[in-house]
Amino acid sequence: MHSNLKKMAEVVQNAPSVLKDIKAETSKQMIGYFHPVFPAEILYAAGLHPVQLYPGLQEPITLADDHLQLYLCAYLRAEWDQILKGKHAYLDGAIIPRSCEAVTFLYQTWKRHNPFDFIDYLNIPWKKSDNTIRFFTKELQRVKNNLESFIHGKISSNALADAIVLHNKNRSLLKTACEFRNTHNPPFSTHDIFNMVMSGFVLDKKEHTHMMTELLGQVKETAVDSVSEHRPEHRPVRLLLSGGCVLDTRLLDIIETAGAAVVADDFSNGARSFQPIVAEGEDALESLATAYATIPCGFNTAIGDRFSFLTDVISQQAVDGVLFAINRNCETEKFDYPILDQKIRERFKIPTMLLETDYLCAVGPLQTRVEAFIEMIGGKES
Ligand code: SF4
Repeated sequence: MHSNLKKMAEVVQNAPSVLKDIKAETSKQMIGYFHPVFPAEILYAAGLHPVQLYPGLQEPITLADDHLQLYLCAYLRAEWDQILKGKHAYLDGAIIPRSCEAVTFLYQTWKRHNPFDFIDYLNIPWKKSDNTIRFFTKELQRVKNNLESFIHGKISSNALADAIVLHNKNRSLLKTACEFRNTHNPPFSTHDIFNMVMSGFVLDKKEHTHMMTELLGQVKETAVDSVSEHRPEHRPVRLLLSGGCVLDTRLLDIIETAGAAVVADDFSNGARSFQPIVAEGEDALESLATAYATIPCGFNTAIGDRFSFLTDVISQQAVDGVLFAINRNCETEKFDYPILDQKIRERFKIPTMLLETDYLCAVGPLQTRVEAFIEMIGGKES
């Protein structure tokens, strides 16, 4: 395993202690945010360290149940639980988007129980009209102003332009890594891809970009395989994974062991988080608003647009089946699922399956269902 891949896996595994070390080394203030719909470029340009919040798989949820209803999703409950337990003590503040209902209402809970120095919200547009982009641009301006008050300084246009260039480069590298999924012998497992993406939620963007550049440089040099136009007869079952965010990433290993290749995903901690390429050299906030409004999360995307996104992926990647892996109690994804499921079956005549996932999944039953699904499509027998 390439040393950078190993390091990325360790970063994801030990995110809180890695962030604590980064803070001690750089003295940078750290701001957490939920979901990939907030432009981290603004934090970066402010000299802050952005952290896309994600719960580690450390322990059962206990303290959060005093504050949050049990019927909320496991992602939010686990994250809040770990904040209450002081696992994210490196944070100096948080930005909570008005994205799904669960996250939207966490703003008040967070303010009441864990008042960091900085707390703000962000309204997210659902429609994609000129008017809503203007509104979203103003929202970003408001958050930028509040961040400037917090840092007692200005976020310069140059710093913002540089941050956009850096983040675009980072996104392009992640897209390139994903393109390797379509080769005969992909150099990366699905878990590797998620570790690449999620270590980017933790590390400084320059360092992460450097690591990705090194990693891809080496892979390209050694790759004897090219993007597959003539796929071998006995190729693995090609799956698309959809469903918000995958918390228990052991699911990814189960899928691959069962004989399938994940050739595309539609997760907030996967491909959604590096979708937008932001226009460079133009009005920075407007460009950020325009690009980030296109991230295809369930809570900000009309069902027709989500279906178009999935249609493109299924066609381009020659997908054999779609696995919806949706967190228990994630209303956002579960509202969209029946319609997307029906439309995909009608249009592509490929099998689909719904898996209800959790913070810590029961691996046995999960494995049985995944193996049966893959076998039904034509993968190896378990
Ligand atoms: S998993 Fe669903 S309900 Fe939970 S935070 Fe994400 S979008 Fe919201």
